[in-house]
Amino acid sequence: MKAPEFDYVRPDTLEDVFVLLDDETCDARLLAGGQSLIAALNFRLDAPELLIDINRIDGLSGIVEDGDNIRIGALTRHVEVENSQIVARHLPLLSKAIGNVAHAAIRNRGTFGGSLALADPAAEIPACCLAYDAIITASSSSGNRTIRAADFFHGLYETALEDHEIITAVEFKKRAPNDLVAFDEITRRHGDYAMAGLAFSAAAKGKIEDPHIVFFGISDRPIRAVEAEAILEGARLDQPAIAAAASKATEGIELSSDTSASEAMKAHLARTLLNRALTSILEEKP
Ligand SMILES: Cc1cc2nc3c(=O)[nH]c(=O)nc-3n(C[C@H](O)[C@H](O)[C@H](O)COP(=O)(O)OP(=O)(O)OC[C@H]3O[C@@H](n4cnc5c(N)ncnc54)[C@H](O)[C@@H]3O)c2cc1C
Repeated sequence: MKAPEFDYVRPDTLEDVFVLLDDETCDARLLAGGQSLIAALNFRLDAPELLIDINRIDGLSGIVEDGDNIRIGALTRHVEVENSQIVARHLPLLSKAIGNVAHAAIRNRGTFGGSLALADPAAEIPACCLAYDAIITASSSSGNRTIRAADFFHGLYETALEDHEIITAVEFKKRAPNDLVAFDEITRRHGDYAMAGLAFSAAAKGKIEDPHIVFFGISDRPIRAVEAEAILEGARLDQPAIAAAASKATEGIELSSDTSASEAMKAHLARTLLNRALTSILEEKP
């Protein structure tokens, strides 16, 4: 199928984008990597009047260190994150996860901001942002607004972003070298969206501190397993702690089935992932 007709503009500045987004009479979409939007148009799942191509706007792309923070521009391609030494050193969870996003051709074009704005519940990047307490900057003609990843994902393809806003950047705190991290997902084929996935991060000071267990692909959004986190907080990582946390993996989480698996299967996969991830950390520990 072909996309329905639309108008197309490629502004050079953010200010021009704001003017276009502020026009409430026009149903517009931002076009970043186009890896999801163009497919949606071709399948006629969406039919906007106008596409606003943001690829020519300066300053939206790149990964920079700023003191204790790392800033990733919204237009940064997945492949740049994959190849970044800054990300590998300071955000190891993201570094582990990014090669699981689709296939190389899609990672060459797909963007960091596009993945967050799309908010697919089975996507890797939103889960990592939640596990790392990332801060998302949304910009508009009214200025910049920051949104915690914990407040950003509202449901299936739904976010806190307003129609007149554009994601411009995402900020992360640099992680300590001895942080515990694990990333794992179960897919039918490598590069597919996950049937179930796990992004795990915690501080380690003898005991586990501030664990973030984030599942994706099992609910309508990336979601923290707060009951399992409560078991791990302050605990030593050992087999009884792992078994106890895994048994509570999906407690309190509203599971969503999809074409890949039933709710019961998603719960089983989540328990398996958490057990597997924590066991691998235990076995790696010096
Ligand atoms: C075959 C295939 C397999 C895939 N597998 C995976 C996978 O396993 N995991 C995964 O995470 N993703 C997967 N993807 C999606 C891919 O990662 C996309 O790159 C990503 O979802 C969207 O990024 P994009 O830059 O292409 O956004 P686009 O397609 O350009 O836009 C997507 C949506 O986000 C909006 N948007 C884009 N940028 C911004 C911004 N800066 N501010 C506000 N709104 C914005 C657009 O208006 C649109 O609504 C797959 C895609 C394909 C085609």
